Amino acid sequence: MKLNIENEDLTKFRGLAGVSGSGHSWPEDYADDNGKYLNQCLTCNTHFMGHKRRNVCKLCDTENQRWWESLSDEERKEHIASVAGEVNRIFGPND
Ligand SMILES: [Zn+2]
Repeated sequence: MKLNIENEDLTKFRGLAGVSGSGHSWPEDYADDNGKYLNQCLTCNTHFMGHKRRNVCKLCDTENQRWWESLSDEERKEHIASVAGEVNRIFGPND
């Protein structure tokens, strides 16, 4: 669900789980063009406010950052190779 919500309409959506004051939203996006969309997190499914191109809430993004920083260089290379393999499996190898 993608809705562009103006300031005055924001209160209508405060009842939705995860929106407003939960830490899932990205208040630093609000002043930008398209910065106040109601998005749904691909990781935890919570609704959050932020730029229309965001697909992960702030809490999950922070968790992802912590996980990435906890990896060694070797583990990061293995993960990147694994993701590349998955992309090739889905979309086929790049010719
Ligand atoms: Zn999330």
